[in-house]
Amino acid sequence: MTDIMNPKRAIVTGGSRGIGKAIVKELVTRVNNGTHFADVVFTYNSSKEKADELEKELSATGAKVFGIKADSSSMSDAQAAVDFAVEKLGGVDLLINNAGITRDNLMLRMSEDDWNQVISANLTGVFNYNKVVLKPMMAQRYGRIVNISSIVGLIGNAGQANYAASKAGVFGFTKSLAKEVASRNITVNALAPGFIETDMTDKLNEKQKEALLSNIPLKRMGKAEDIARVVIFLCSEDADYITGQVIAVDGGMVM
Ligand code: NAP
Repeated sequence: MTDIMNPKRAIVTGGSRGIGKAIVKELVTRVNNGTHFADVVFTYNSSKEKADELEKELSATGAKVFGIKADSSSMSDAQAAVDFAVEKLGGVDLLINNAGITRDNLMLRMSEDDWNQVISANLTGVFNYNKVVLKPMMAQRYGRIVNISSIVGLIGNAGQANYAASKAGVFGFTKSLAKEVASRNITVNALAPGFIETDMTDKLNEKQKEALLSNIPLKRMGKAEDIARVVIFLCSEDADYITGQVIAVDGGMVM
């Protein structure tokens, strides 16, 4: 097995806010074998100011951290982001596909745009980044890929047929790719977060939040850091023998 140097070199899509931001922070600040866990290139779509702030804050630690604009639904943007990471970090060891959006509506009112945008950003985005990182990962015979899906892809949710389809697609994709690339020492896993405090769930009203909370055995919403810590685990040596798995991080909502 190839000995991968520390710090590792990571790409995180959608790292400017929410869960992605927590993942970027954890990668940069977690100590591993006497250094930080990873140098990071993270992407965003529109929140340049937040991305610049995060890049500045974390660069002050001495780690290499770069935020760049790259729309996950665009293959050419994905290729440019990976090329940028190879240039600035010297390669790519970890890929965290986190970028995602919702365009909720009941089916009778769901437009083709609502459908296409969500499938493009959430599912085609996962295809795009996985496809372009494989070459460098296969060449170095090492890679750790974590695709952030959702429990909605497991159990469905009224008003989210587009989102659920995109996230369920990520599970099938993850398992198929895991089988394809395991012989090259590349693991591919998916996380299924439950109900996590971010801008995405801020849109819910109090009544919706109460209803959701009543279905969470651990009786609290998750924090972005709850997801970030599991991502670090899947990217660490402790998880070397785990691939093709869907891990729910949801306070027990789905069991
Ligand atoms: P969020 O707070 O809305 O943040 C989304 C992040 O993704 C932002 O950095 C955003 O960048 C980026 N992004 C969105 N569309 C993009 C695109 N087309 N290209 C590149 N970046 C894009 O969302 P979150 O709650 O942290 O969710 C992160 C992931 O976890 C998503 O895949 C989501 O489906 C999943 N998830 C979340 C929950 C939850 O309860 N929050 C539960 C299950 C799964 P900009 O700032 O530039 O827009």
